[in-house]
Amino acid sequence: MSCQLWVNYSHSLFTTSSIHYMKYEHIKQSAYEANMQLPKLGLVLFTFGNVSAADRNLGVFAIKPSGVPYEELTPDKMVIVDFDANIVQGSLRPSSDTKTHAVLYKQWEKIGGIVHTHSTYATAWAQAQRDIPIFGTTHADHTTADIPCAPPMQDEMIKGDYEFETGFQIINCFHERALSYEEVEMILVGNHAPFTWGKTPEKAVYNSAVLETVAQMAYLTEQIRNDAPRLKDALIKKHYERKHGPDSYYGQT
Ligand SMILES: [Zn+2]
Repeated sequence: MSCQLWVNYSHSLFTTSSIHYMKYEHIKQSAYEANMQLPKLGLVLFTFGNVSAADRNLGVFAIKPSGVPYEELTPDKMVIVDFDANIVQGSLRPSSDTKTHAVLYKQWEKIGGIVHTHSTYATAWAQAQRDIPIFGTTHADHTTADIPCAPPMQDEMIKGDYEFETGFQIINCFHERALSYEEVEMILVGNHAPFTWGKTPEKAVYNSAVLETVAQMAYLTEQIRNDAPRLKDALIKKHYERKHGPDSYYGQT
């Protein structure tokens, strides 16, 4: 009898831990696949960069471990973290930018994926502490605002919890400029590099690649003509309306 009880008990333990393990598989797989896109798209060198994938119902996200080369990544190596940056599952240390991801997920409830890279052109604009002006329709097809560059972090914030404060540096910039994180899914962090996000990790990676291209185009535009005008208001309005207006058709073809 006691033996039977023990068998039942151990069986239920096994089942519970399997379910616990399995319930994060989808975000580990999704984070893994999104991370592997970064070197393919030429957005990262060595171990730079990280992507996370959130499950809003479970209140957690999967993120790349710190310092593991891309060719050695596997879905199992992803670390599961909650929106307060506590590790929920995983044997490796999560990315050093984990607290920044956690702040953004906690503050912005509709995002499901975040990307951080040090891609060359976007990072160059961040280092120059400049917004990327909206020069053309490629930019306007994705956002009709200049891509914001958050001012460099204040000394008290640097001395505090740096990665956590980077999250607030981003949130504060959007708040001060009255920007919507659903309209503008990217930012340059002054003297640092870009962060992008989206409803899914795939969209966040897409935004990261778009940002790098727009940053390169804007740089070249200023090389060719240093007083190049911004896209005129009529075209900005046209691009905004075709995406958001009552007769919106952008993305349907
Ligand atoms: Zn960084």
